[in-house]
Amino acid sequence: MTGPHAGKAGRKTAKEIGVKGAWTLKARGPAKILVGCVYRAESEWADKSILSEKKDRPAEHLAVCEHGVAVGASTRRVAIERAKQSEHWCEKCKARVAAL
Ligand SMILES: [Zn+2]
Repeated sequence: MTGPHAGKAGRKTAKEIGVKGAWTLKARGPAKILVGCVYRAESEWADKSILSEKKDRPAEHLAVCEHGVAVGASTRRVAIERAKQSEHWCEKCKARVAAL
């Protein structure tokens, strides 16, 4: 598997972010919630059973919010889509958005 999330370039990005396997981290949405995306195989979730968005196979990538809640994704694109919608999969993010 190659790409900006893997190999030497991926490890450099993860080191800059400070999270194993991470390839992006941003404050997202009106509540400015920190949500990142990680390449699961190189992350602390590598041994965990997390399925991709269709629940038909293990997740290649994960979106992870600042509360430590993770959801699976099959591709980088899907991971970013899910990262932008953390209020739909994390109760604490939902509360933050509701409180605005
Ligand atoms: Zn959250």
